[in-house]
Amino acid sequence: VPLARLAAVALALDPSMVRVENDVNVATLAEYRIGAGQGLDSFLAVFAGTGVGGAVVLGGRLRRGARGAAGEIGHAVVVMGGEPCPCGRRGCTEAYAGRAPMERAVRAAVESGRPTELPTIQRRLGRERLTTEVLAEGLALGDALAAELVELAARALGTAIASACNLLDVQAVLLGGGLTDGLGDPFVRQVERAVSPQLVANQPPLEIRRTALGERAGAIGAALLVHEPPS
Ligand SMILES: [Zn+2]
Repeated sequence: VPLARLAAVALALDPSMVRVENDVNVATLAEYRIGAGQGLDSFLAVFAGTGVGGAVVLGGRLRRGARGAAGEIGHAVVVMGGEPCPCGRRGCTEAYAGRAPMERAVRAAVESGRPTELPTIQRRLGRERLTTEVLAEGLALGDALAAELVELAARALGTAIASACNLLDVQAVLLGGGLTDGLGDPFVRQVERAVSPQLVANQPPLEIRRTALGERAGAIGAALLVHEPPS
């Protein structure tokens, strides 16, 4: 679908004024220009929320890749033949750090009779899904399943990030998204602990920073996109 052309016609704008880009790329652009990525020449941005998205800046430029799929770290395989992923493949990062697989794990635990407060917390908070808020409350109450799911997500993200860094040797990693923002610095440290031992080179130590712009990054980045040189 020629979105840019349709939008230009609908808004009566010159087509050169309309740019289209995916949400993770524009969020990364915003972090690069006015957020946590300022001043870096190379970094990997990873957004963990409902799904796991990512983007790559190399040599000072957002890299889209030959097929527009550069940075899709959510579908980097961390377990060969592992758990089914929402994308239809198996063993992806998102199959361990995404919302749907976590919900599946909670259902399986409940069916097997394992004690967990997560469904109760979810109902009490009036949430239809296993949101980060539900997980955070579970962690605060000492729910073992909540701790296990968060640790598994951190290890999956850490493994994928380490593999990407071994491949690209970027200066830093920016970690954002609803899961990261909701669980905060303890989660970032948890991911960092999973990354470090898997790095081939870690001198100077790879810095894992939290993104700075929160959920507004996408809108800010989309606005900034118009000022970027065409790639
Ligand atoms: Zn996948």
